[in-house]
Parts: sequence; C-alpha cells; structure tokens
Amino acid sequence: MPDLNMQILIVDDMSTMRRIIKNALRQLGFSKLEEAEDGQVGLDKVKEGGIDLVISDWNMPNLDGLGMLKSIREDAAFRELPVLMVTAQASQKCVLEAIRAGATNYIVKPFTADALKEKIEKIFPN
Ligand SMILES: [Mg+2]
Repeated sequence: MPDLNMQILIVDDMSTMRRIIKNALRQLGFSKLEEAEDGQVGLDKVKEGGIDLVISDWNMPNLDGLGMLKSIREDAAFRELPVLMVTAQASQKCVLEAIRAGATNYIVKPFTADALKEKIEKIFPN
C-alpha cells in the first residue's frame, strides 16, 4: 500500500463527488486530503507545492481536467506528479487524450473504494 501520509488533491466541480472520493480515500486510510472546485484552483494548489497525487474530474468550469493536466505537465517541476483522471465514460477518445496529455492513469465513474485503491497501487508500486 502506498504511503498513507501522502497529500492528495481532489479536483471536481461537484461537491458531492469530492465528498464521495474523500470518503473512499479515508476508507483506504488516507487522511491528508485537499479539495479544489475547478481546474484553475487545482492548478494553483499544485503550484503551491506539497501535493503527492492529484485525482481530477474531467468536465469542470473555468479550466477543465485536461487543461489543468496540460498546464501541470508544462511545468518541469510537476512533470512526474501523479495525476489520476476521473472520466464519466471509458471512451477511447477521452482515454487516449488523457494519456497523451500525460495522465498517469484514469478511472471511470462511478467507482468503488477498491477500484480506487487498485489505481493508486498501480501508480505507487512497491
Ligand atoms: Mg464535473
């Protein structure tokens, strides 16, 4: 299991979805959880530093998940920062676009805490 002390940033414009993801992460033992309501706020929080993993929604106002991901990757300091994209559907186009933009992995909504655990373990193998 990855380091339970890692700082995880949850980016989603729906507070309900942020709460669901937060609860799943707490269930898995993670406790250092931060939230952002859109990609711009998420990007600002990433740039402040200290984030070990970003879990981000795709469709959001101001700056969407893909735009945020691209901006994160443009910054050399965050080229390796793990970003798990949450997609509404596993469309080939979305997945390819996310991988091309530098997503570390992706997960399709709705998902269980176990599915989330599997993805995080893939990102942080040990
Ligand atoms: Mg959304």
